[in-house]
Amino acid sequence: SKKPVRVAVTGAAGQIGYALLFRIASGEMLGKDQPVILQLLEIPDEKAQNALKGVIMELEDCAFPLLVGIEAHSDPMTAFKDTDYALLVGARPRGPGMERADLLAANAQIFTVQGKALNAVASRNVKVLVVGNPANTNAYIAMKSAPDLPAKNFTAMLRLDHNRAASQIASKTGKAVAGIEKLAVWGNHSPTMYADYRFATIDGQSVKTLINDEAWNRDVFLPTVGKRGAAIIAARGLSSAASAANAAIDHMRDWALGTNGKWVTMGIPSDGSYGIPKDVMFGYPVTCEGGEYKIVQGLEIDAFSQECINKTLKELTDEQDGVKHLL
Ligand code: NDP
Repeated sequence: SKKPVRVAVTGAAGQIGYALLFRIASGEMLGKDQPVILQLLEIPDEKAQNALKGVIMELEDCAFPLLVGIEAHSDPMTAFKDTDYALLVGARPRGPGMERADLLAANAQIFTVQGKALNAVASRNVKVLVVGNPANTNAYIAMKSAPDLPAKNFTAMLRLDHNRAASQIASKTGKAVAGIEKLAVWGNHSPTMYADYRFATIDGQSVKTLINDEAWNRDVFLPTVGKRGAAIIAARGLSSAASAANAAIDHMRDWALGTNGKWVTMGIPSDGSYGIPKDVMFGYPVTCEGGEYKIVQGLEIDAFSQECINKTLKELTDEQDGVKHLL
């Protein structure tokens, strides 16, 4: 049987954590033959540590055959020790009256500490996924704080935007979501993201041709995908924790186990592709094989797409400029 791998999860007692841990432990992320050790991080606060104890009791009571160890931590330097996968979910939410700059600064502090800890103690091959918002900028900060780890090991979650776009396309065309290929989402995990179905097919047919409605793309599809998180909060009174956790599972599974040529979206440090400045943590269409992602190259960027990409890039470079002095 396989050697266990170490999976660290931060914000482990939060809403996303609650929807995420049981699926990691059951083998949905790394495969039904891969034993895992969970290294769970929560803030030292007594309430959070108690909540974490409760979650651990439930994990124990599932008697998952693949779950061979569970650890509770309040310090990233121990939580990230030898970790092979790190899902950084915990982040500082925007409080009442909090300015954007305060939010960026609070998170810069958290992700600087966590990046340094990963740099010091994690496996040299650690795969890092940042879910906590602002996810792209938090991932950028962690990457910049971990100079001894390869930059490509740091990623941000755009998969929820990708999955939301796929679901909207399936419902518009009246076809099953499983038939979709070649969907792309560019940019920041925020309402400025650009979901792009110009190359997509569903059951082998061109999505663009099937829909054939530029106004729907611009006035319905893009705003619906971009504002989906807010629509779920309005409907449920709570945020979209389950679908966020699901997207995190999809992202890590595809990165680790491969996509068989299928395009998925990941936020990754730019290598300069498509004119995005190097190191900007940007959503790209990628394929994964052998534990590595590769940007889908050679796609034509038309005027409308360039305008959308420029807008989401501007937002990201503004965020990253806003934290530069903190790094
Ligand atoms: P959640 O588990 O619901 O969310 C955690 C983070 O994920 C937030 O930053 C949230 O962003 C983000 N997120 C990304 N995509 C989504 C999505 N689609 N839907 C919802 N959230 C999304 O938050 P909780 O407050 O329930 O739990 C957070 C836990 O993290 C707490 O237990 C807390 O103790 C811990 N924490 C840890 C910190 C640390 O490690 N130093 C710092 C702060 C908290 P958004 O805010 O934009 O919704």
